[in-house]
Amino acid sequence: MNQTSLATTDKDNGPVKRPSHSLQTPELSAPAHQLEGDLLIEELASDAERGLDSEEAARRLSQYGPNLLRETGHQPWYQLLLHQFSDLMIVVLFVAAALAWYLGDVRGAIVLMAIILINAAIGLYQEFHAEQLLERLRSMIRSQAVALRDGEMLELDAADLVPGDIVTIEEGGAVPADLRLLSSNELATNDFMLTGESLPQEKDAAAEPAPDAGLAEQDNLAFMGTTVARGSATGVVIATGMASTIGEIAEIGQGIKRDRSPLQLEMNALARILTRMAGLIALALFLINLLLRSEDFADLPALVNASLLFAIGVAAACVPQGLPAQITVALSLGVGRLARENAVVKRLSSVETLGCTTVICSDKTGTITSNQMTIVSAWADGIDYDISGRGYAPQGQVLREGRALEPAELEGLQLFFQLGLLAGNGRTHEPDADHRDWYAMGDPTEAAFMPLAFKAGLQPEQCLEDSELIAELAFDSQRKRMVMVRRVGGRAVAYMKGATPSVLEACSQIVRGQEVVPLDDNMGDAITARMQDFSAQSLRVIALAYRELPGDQQDYTIEKTERDFVFAGLVAMLDPPREGVEDALKAVYRARMRLFMLTGDDPVTAAAIAERIGMPDGRVITGNELRDMPDAELRDALGARSVILSRVSPKEKYRVVEQLKALGEVVAVTGDGVNDTLSLKRADIGVAMGKQGSEVAKEAAEIVLTDDDFSTLVIAVQEGRTIYQNLKSVILSSITSNIGELSCVCTGFVGAAVGLPIPLTAVQILSIDLVGEMLPLMALTFDPPDRTLMEQAPRRQGSHIINRKSLVDIVAMGVLMGLGGYFSFYMVLLSGGSTGSAQAAAFLGIVLIQYVNILSRRTVDSIFSGYLIANGKLTGSIAFSFLLVAAITSWPGLSTWFGFEALRLADWLWPVSAALVFLAIFEIKKRIL
Ligand code: ADP
Ligand code: MG
Repeated sequence: MNQTSLATTDKDNGPVKRPSHSLQTPELSAPAHQLEGDLLIEELASDAERGLDSEEAARRLSQYGPNLLRETGHQPWYQLLLHQFSDLMIVVLFVAAALAWYLGDVRGAIVLMAIILINAAIGLYQEFHAEQLLERLRSMIRSQAVALRDGEMLELDAADLVPGDIVTIEEGGAVPADLRLLSSNELATNDFMLTGESLPQEKDAAAEPAPDAGLAEQDNLAFMGTTVARGSATGVVIATGMASTIGEIAEIGQGIKRDRSPLQLEMNALARILTRMAGLIALALFLINLLLRSEDFADLPALVNASLLFAIGVAAACVPQGLPAQITVALSLGVGRLARENAVVKRLSSVETLGCTTVICSDKTGTITSNQMTIVSAWADGIDYDISGRGYAPQGQVLREGRALEPAELEGLQLFFQLGLLAGNGRTHEPDADHRDWYAMGDPTEAAFMPLAFKAGLQPEQCLEDSELIAELAFDSQRKRMVMVRRVGGRAVAYMKGATPSVLEACSQIVRGQEVVPLDDNMGDAITARMQDFSAQSLRVIALAYRELPGDQQDYTIEKTERDFVFAGLVAMLDPPREGVEDALKAVYRARMRLFMLTGDDPVTAAAIAERIGMPDGRVITGNELRDMPDAELRDALGARSVILSRVSPKEKYRVVEQLKALGEVVAVTGDGVNDTLSLKRADIGVAMGKQGSEVAKEAAEIVLTDDDFSTLVIAVQEGRTIYQNLKSVILSSITSNIGELSCVCTGFVGAAVGLPIPLTAVQILSIDLVGEMLPLMALTFDPPDRTLMEQAPRRQGSHIINRKSLVDIVAMGVLMGLGGYFSFYMVLLSGGSTGSAQAAAFLGIVLIQYVNILSRRTVDSIFSGYLIANGKLTGSIAFSFLLVAAITSWPGLSTWFGFEALRLADWLWPVSAALVFLAIFEIKKRIL
């Protein structure tokens, strides 16, 4: 099967060059852009009317493989391994190990090598894990395609497309495979990914590119991986998956970026500083050591060796080897956890930014609401109708004052009940393999008119067939209306639907008592009043109008066509808020963030929905007001707790995001539509809906919610905060102990001046890192959020973990830790212990204090709470580490290897009491704060 050949190409290194014989595309008599559509369909053994039949499609699927892009150019394992050793800190440790070995300190070299290898293993595991994770994330963002199969249009998984399929594409959607266009309407695609051209590329089924036309000129083709900027088209699939143009030339489209986050940058910088400082410290220690032992000058080479070894060991212990790797591990673990919660993060660093979010700007339709449109009411010729039935199923009736209308009564309403259908592209389809219920294809707002026609006793398919499409003036969020011109019995009729004010603008007449009369201001007011009644019930209102066009009209531009319409009536759609939004919103406010609603919809509808989901009362600003508002005033308005912006265009959404950012807010924008892409891109974090959202929105976003659930965003914010919090504890604890070790050594020099032995040897210091803290620090990144995390104000973006305040804190605590170690050492000496056992006590003291340090830094509460054991990995690794440490310090067989003499039970008193004092200091500090 083709699968295997795809698998082998996966391992290729060069993403560009791939042997073409390994992939199959159907044989064609000429390049696809040179073939007429009809001929091409014939050569592909397809059918323009019926598409492929499902058996043939299944056969082709197994022949050509699924329509998926796979990643090429994986790094082989040995490159990944080598990569681990390219790190400056690891190099430093390597040199230290080699030098130690050379100078005869075998134990020091072994401990150093163990540290290096463990770090490399972690790094390697992490890179493998990251690769797999990215692969999985990519496959989570699935897209749908609309194709003709067995004579029917239906929606299927884009991965199931095969050459020969007839598909339709429309604005906001992705081009699901390489297509030869068969018909097109004002089509333009975003080909940036293929050609680097940032402006939409106009496409036309009738174009005749030259035989040697390049990709950018093959205007009768549309390419997989591009998206539809405007217009619509049908086309026949000529290549899928890795055989498509993008599969052949480019790195994979759904590029998941692995850029460095601010925290990673801060840590890399810090690591560099500390590594350099370690160098200086080594030099200083070396000189001090030489001077202190000047009486040994007789044997100079031996003295130099010993001093050098000591200096290297201590300096190596100061290098924060694990830190940068740990941050990457923690971030990618977070990305993995988020994926399980249905949030696909396309960029590692956005996990961090998420935690800083202060304002969420959310689109209404499709984000806060479910975008499942059901027309529930209609108003035509001054009469109200109720429509029964829910969802897209055709069952239901048109009722007037609670009584279902007879077919005879519906007779005169035929035009009204099919108008919306004729003015749109949306269709519905019965349940099939991929869908349990009737479902919408295309824009749900448009699809909702199909069940309406059914319920009014019409045959929607027949209506559409009887009125051939001549021209389409597509919907855009600026005009907020759309028109379709159709030929009906020899006449050209234009059908319009849109937002009520926009439609009224284009109307000069109205249907009154079954007759067409001029539209006057009173009637306009009545329409607006009726619309507001609907809106107040949180319904989405669409106005309908039509116009018979002059017989001699040739071209159908907006200017010539969109005027003198006859107003026909209103329909009202139910689009209920998504489940769980109310609770999610409470969590948003608890976490001291704000939510603004940005919608193209009516202010009254927006306010009604806002009330239903529990948004606090706030100002409603309309697009018109916004346009006249100077920046300063807008910024003032945006300071409020809750703001609704209604009837805004994409540009105005963008402006709001921009002004919020100017106010220093960290803005997350959630959206699903084409009209949201600008603001999604401008946001600090763009969040798109994965299921119902348009492909362009998903592409513009950094995070895709695959369950379309607004509350997933709150979980994502929590994850972002948790990760940052955990990394903060890791970093601070880790540096504290380095300072602790160093200050213990320095105190040792003071002691040496009065003739005391040194408290810790180089091997012993390195062992503190290895057995005492490596595992617990790693486990720390798995901490669950602490009680208060989602009740605090978001942290400031750009704040550093190492700042003046935290520096004072870690230096103070570090020095205390060092003194605690030296105290233990000194007390054992004083009570008659040997140098070896005093050193074991110093070692034990520092490790125990480090446990306290780690456990205290992870919560703002006392460590004695349920949270103490909330992280099983941490509890386990501290227990394991403690066993090792106890064995090293107290079991004679092992302790001699580390240069210790085993501790007596009574010697434990001093390290334990030092740790308790340290604990008390932390607890008191927390109480006071
Ligand atoms: P939102 O920003 O909440 O997603 P939209 O931009 O989708 O809102 O819609 C704005 C307004 O445009 C709606 O209130 C509706 O009246 C109108 N509208 C939306 N979609 C269509 C459509 N396909 N055809 C006609 N009018 C539409
Ligand atoms: Mg929307």
